Amino acid sequence: MEGKRTYSKTRIAPTPSGFLHLGNVVSFVRTVGLAKSFGARILLRIDDMDRERVVPEYVQDIFDVLNFLELPWEEGPRNVKEFEREWSQVHRMGMYREALEDLREKGDVFACSCSRAKVMRDSPDGVYAGTCRDKELSF
Ligand SMILES: [Zn+2]
Repeated sequence: MEGKRTYSKTRIAPTPSGFLHLGNVVSFVRTVGLAKSFGARILLRIDDMDRERVVPEYVQDIFDVLNFLELPWEEGPRNVKEFEREWSQVHRMGMYREALEDLREKGDVFACSCSRAKVMRDSPDGVYAGTCRDKELSF
C-alpha cells in the first residue's frame, strides 16, 4: 500500500541502572507486538553508556525478565557474558567520539533545552524541527 510505513528492525533498549519495572515491561510487550505486526526483527540494545550507574545485577535482571516473560529478540546478546564481551556500548565509544567530532566540524552540534514531549509535539514526522539550533545555548 502506498504511503504505508514499513519497518524491518526495532529495538528493546533497557538501561541497567535499576531493576526493570512495569513501565519497561509494557514498553517491551508493545515493541514485540509492533515488531510482529510489521514483520520486523528485534534488537536487544542494552544502553550502558552511563557506566557509573551500571550494576551487573541489573544487566542480569534484563535477561531474567525477558526470558521469564518469553519475549523474543533476534539480535543482540543472549546473556551477560555475551553482552560484556561483544555488545556493551563501551566497545563503540571510539565510533561515537568520531561521529561527534564530525558533527562538531560541520557545526551541527548544539544544545537543546526542550523536553522530549516538546520535541515530539514539534516533530510529528519524527524529524527534529531544529527548535534550538540557532539559540546558542551553552552545554
Ligand atoms: Zn530545543
